[in-house]
Amino acid sequence: MPEPTPIDVNSMSQTDQIDNPEVLSPVIEHVEQDNSASPPLIHRFIYNWLITDPGLNYTTKKNYQVQKHEDMRTLYFCGGRLRTVKQRPLNLITGVLIVLPAVLFWVYEAQWVWENVSPAPVIIFTYLWCVTLALFFKASTCDPGVLPRNIHLPLNVDPVTHSFIAKVVPEEYSNSISLPHKSKDTTSQVVPTFTKNRETSSNSPGVLVKYCGTCHIWRPPRASHCTVCNVCVVNHDHHCVFLNNCVGIRNYRYFLWFLACSSLTSILLSALSFIQVVHYKFMNDPLLDDFGDSIYKYPVGFFLALYGTVSLVYPTLLWGLHLCLTGWNLTTREYLNNVWGRKHSNFVNVFDTQSLIKNLYINWISKPNGITLMRMTDPYDPGDLRMEKVAPLSAFPTM
Ligand SMILES: [Zn+2]
Ligand SMILES: [Zn+2]
Repeated sequence: MPEPTPIDVNSMSQTDQIDNPEVLSPVIEHVEQDNSASPPLIHRFIYNWLITDPGLNYTTKKNYQVQKHEDMRTLYFCGGRLRTVKQRPLNLITGVLIVLPAVLFWVYEAQWVWENVSPAPVIIFTYLWCVTLALFFKASTCDPGVLPRNIHLPLNVDPVTHSFIAKVVPEEYSNSISLPHKSKDTTSQVVPTFTKNRETSSNSPGVLVKYCGTCHIWRPPRASHCTVCNVCVVNHDHHCVFLNNCVGIRNYRYFLWFLACSSLTSILLSALSFIQVVHYKFMNDPLLDDFGDSIYKYPVGFFLALYGTVSLVYPTLLWGLHLCLTGWNLTTREYLNNVWGRKHSNFVNVFDTQSLIKNLYINWISKPNGITLMRMTDPYDPGDLRMEKVAPLSAFPTM
């Protein structure tokens, strides 16, 4: 009797795998890494510690070096302590836009301000700039509150082969659940509701909880999936292209204070530069007759005055927007999905404390940043499901 031909699962599409139940089993692939050949020390320092792309094959020791799931977009630095997204590193340009004007100020303007105005503005500018840079660095490179993957899998483990056997997806994984909350008009409690169709579920007035078919987890309230980072983030506010990072529970406060400090720094920079350019009108400078002469003598001061004014606009507008949002205790996502243009008139903001001061205090000062839910610096446990590559929910048959 001829032996059956083995099926190459890796070469099959997900649709083929669903159609053929015999080949559903290896949805999760174990890739054993060869730890015997250790690369040279300098190579390990630069590529395994200083800059680490988990998509490449490393000698695996820590979590930040191991990410087997597809479309891994995070790049790690300094042994998994810092991170950024690989696709569009716009945060480098933002960093240059913060550092360059400050260097020009210290080289061409600081001494003049120190001697002709007062030392105080130079000291205040330097302090504000240092705080701005530190907040930018922290908000841009820290963990925004990424949720671990593959926590709620429709799978079990084969006790003999230790491979994962796919099971059908429970029906509720495709549903949305509206959590209980106080209704808009009365103080009565609204019971939780289950919505089968995700398209219509967004009309629910309360907090929705959904299953993420990409990360394979039930998201906590206010968490959502970022399509740029390809991860779910707790208290997801938005993905900031200038930080090149999500803004979530762990860096929202840094982001808020970064907007405030960068706006104040820009105001101070443009004010001091304008003073340098137009001072001839108030001080008796025999060498300067008019504005043209002043620009000719202080070209950097004139450039910084314009730069400070232009760079003031965007962070200040964002600062104003987030002052409103934090006053209502809303995230940007909640605002855009439910309030902007009155999309859902029955929306109930269950996180609003009904006190502007309390809402601002919670968001700007008191709300804890939470803990890192996925410690990338921890030693890697071979077979850790959170690192494994699992087919998306659409690849599994539904009950
Ligand atoms: Zn997700
Ligand atoms: Zn993101």
